[in-house]
Amino acid sequence: MEDCFICDKHRQGDAAQGGVIYDDDLVYAGHVHALNGPTAYRGYLMVEPKRHAEGLGDLTDEEAAAIGRLVNRLARALKEATGAEHVYSFVFGDAVPHLHVHLAPRYPGTPREYWGARLNDWPHAPRVDPAGMGDVVAGLRQYLRGG
Ligand SMILES: [Zn+2]
Repeated sequence: MEDCFICDKHRQGDAAQGGVIYDDDLVYAGHVHALNGPTAYRGYLMVEPKRHAEGLGDLTDEEAAAIGRLVNRLARALKEATGAEHVYSFVFGDAVPHLHVHLAPRYPGTPREYWGARLNDWPHAPRVDPAGMGDVVAGLRQYLRGG
């Protein structure tokens, strides 16, 4: 789709902020963009079908399997490569009608009142600028490659 933020990001590839963590014919994963400021929550990822599918329930079985596998591998990678103690996954889809599965790492020391969907509201949450985001992305890519 021409005017879809997510389809556009997929077309940009590594030119998109943070670069691509994983990309094949069916699925894409990248670091969340710092849309609300100069920094983003460290390790907050998005997993998306390459096809412009609106939401859960709109995937083919093949796309659903590919997303499930990638969510699982990335959750493991976030624990191993970024020190997350837990990984959340959410789908909201209220703003952009292209499925994007949020993968949000919770780090040790996160106060209980910021667990879950409020993670990003924690004022002391670990955040990254675009360069730091590139480092996180590189670490996750390396983990997925098995190195
Ligand atoms: Zn789209």
